[in-house]
Amino acid sequence: MIARRHLLGALAGMPLIAAAPHYRLAAQPVAAGIWVVRGADAPIAMANGGAIANISIIATDAGAVLIDAGASHRHGLALAALARRLTGKPVARVYLTHLHPDHSFGASAFPAGLVAATPAVAAQVTGDAAGFSTGLYRLLGDWMRGTELPAPALVAEAGPVLIGGRRLRLLTLSGHSASDLAVLDEATGTLIAGDLVFHNRAPATPHADLPAWRRALDQLAGLGQQRLVPGHGPVDPTPGTAIAQTRAWIDWLEPALKAAMDAGLTMVEAGDLPIPPRFAGLAVARLELQRSVSHFWPALEAARLPRVGG
Ligand SMILES: [Zn+2]
Repeated sequence: MIARRHLLGALAGMPLIAAAPHYRLAAQPVAAGIWVVRGADAPIAMANGGAIANISIIATDAGAVLIDAGASHRHGLALAALARRLTGKPVARVYLTHLHPDHSFGASAFPAGLVAATPAVAAQVTGDAAGFSTGLYRLLGDWMRGTELPAPALVAEAGPVLIGGRRLRLLTLSGHSASDLAVLDEATGTLIAGDLVFHNRAPATPHADLPAWRRALDQLAGLGQQRLVPGHGPVDPTPGTAIAQTRAWIDWLEPALKAAMDAGLTMVEAGDLPIPPRFAGLAVARLELQRSVSHFWPALEAARLPRVGG
């Protein structure tokens, strides 16, 4: 018979890595030489290891191009292995669409010289990123082991870029965050929009600037794409359905929150506002509405309520 203290002693001696969770990634083809690894249509949670954002893999003669890198060091490694299996080549370039951790922290798994981001995103790494990192370690625990902050050494500039015979057009925009990159694959007409576009999933607004976001959506709507890979949610096989859906949500959200404040609602009551039936198909709509209340309420209050005593 094994005494309990022996069993506990044996467990305590086991290397922790044996219990490390694994990312089980699957890619779906989007167009010739492009795949998407779909994120879970859910909030960041222990159950998904933060793998909630869509990651795109593009084959080129020079190697695979990743659009976004996943949420953790281990996620980035798993994406690199998958990209090599799919394209037969190692990763040659990683573009980060924006600094939100579910998209960018997997850059930890790649040499800085392969990682490209806008100068604004590179600057945010020394600002916001440390706070994101603390939050993510708290939410994800061991999934985050070994994850370092992204350190992009390449500058992503607006305009065409040729990688291994493949022509990509980079668009530097903002609105979902302070700096959002979108990538158009010119050969297939595939627009990889990052979190400027959500599809069948309610948009997240932690750092949103809604007027800028509307301008970005206007630009994305006019690029002549044939299909669109959103930051979250299924691939849109049409040029504009997901763009229109994202716009409809933010166009509803802003006046709805202002009206809630004018009506004297509390933050909790505003989070319980009825969601129009036309958004019934959007995943996590209630949760994102409640999060948006917390994002926008302080500024709405500051704009509406006079300061007592001047
Ligand atoms: Zn985001």
